Amino acid sequence: HAKEQNQFVAFYREGFDEAHLRRLAIVEQLPKAIANGGFKLVAQPKVLASTGRTVAAEILIRWHDETLGWVGPDEFIPLAEQSGMITEITHWVVKQAEHWVNQLLQLQDEIKLSINISAVDLINDKLANDLIALSQRNMQRYLILEVTESALMHEPEKSIACLQMLSELGYEISIDDYGTGYSSLSQIRRLPINELKIDRAFIQYLMSQPEDQSIVRSTIQLAHELNLRVVAEGVEDEASWRWLAEHQCDVLQGYYFSKPISFDDLHLRLLKEKEH
Ligand code: C2E
Ligand code: CA
Ligand code: CA
Ligand code: CA
Repeated sequence: HAKEQNQFVAFYREGFDEAHLRRLAIVEQLPKAIANGGFKLVAQPKVLASTGRTVAAEILIRWHDETLGWVGPDEFIPLAEQSGMITEITHWVVKQAEHWVNQLLQLQDEIKLSINISAVDLINDKLANDLIALSQRNMQRYLILEVTESALMHEPEKSIACLQMLSELGYEISIDDYGTGYSSLSQIRRLPINELKIDRAFIQYLMSQPEDQSIVRSTIQLAHELNLRVVAEGVEDEASWRWLAEHQCDVLQGYYFSKPISFDDLHLRLLKEKEH
């Protein structure tokens, strides 16, 4: 038994050390990725529930490092936030988003791109200044800023003031991962928000979980009473699409419609839809 236990301890420690070392390596490689353009962006279409047509796309970051391999955003974004490097990453994402919007506008005059904003971005001036500059080039009508409830809890007054300013400039604000935080709609109704994204956790088992159906149904109702657009994320099958459309959910996103795709593929998709 003692031997087994020792093996377990050794295994556990090794596992722990490996994860720890990987995190250290990520923090070490991040500045290089930022400096050398090591990131790539992909986009996941957001479709109208009633027709299935693409009305927007969410921009998601990807990183492949020579030694680390693929590093998922869930893995490196929290580390980039802790080390302050997220500010530079968001700056780059915003710049790319403007470039994409300009390209897509040559194809059609209605398109919205969502970008993910971190808590840190709402409390320093970099993002605010970037978005003020973009609004002078009329970009605000094409961008949606996705913010989680927990990002707002970080430094509520400062973050809410920042959102207020951005909303007044004309940017749309979306509450991401809704339902996983502790706030309720009654608490966030005073925020300048336009869209509510119901977290994937409530959508994933929608067809087999009556409780999830109740939650989603009442969230959609209440959100509509507050004049918010409702997005369901993580839609993976047709039955869920039907159900969500019947229950007046406005916009859907998920593997059933498309996985995150390259800019070229997004462009192609919009082109094809235009022809039909
Ligand atoms: P999120 O904002 O909730 O993004 C949605 C995530 O769900 C994406 O994972 C997407 O690929 C995944 N997803 C979409 N549809 C489905 C589906 O039908 N089924 C399943 N199982 N998954 C689906 P991804 O790209 O790995 O991003 C993870 C998180 O990383 C994002 O969650 C977001 O919080 C963060 N993130 C990604 N890109 C950025 C960025 O540029 N800046 C910041 N600050 N955060 C980012
Ligand atoms: Ca998001
Ligand atoms: Ca989300
Ligand atoms: Ca998420």
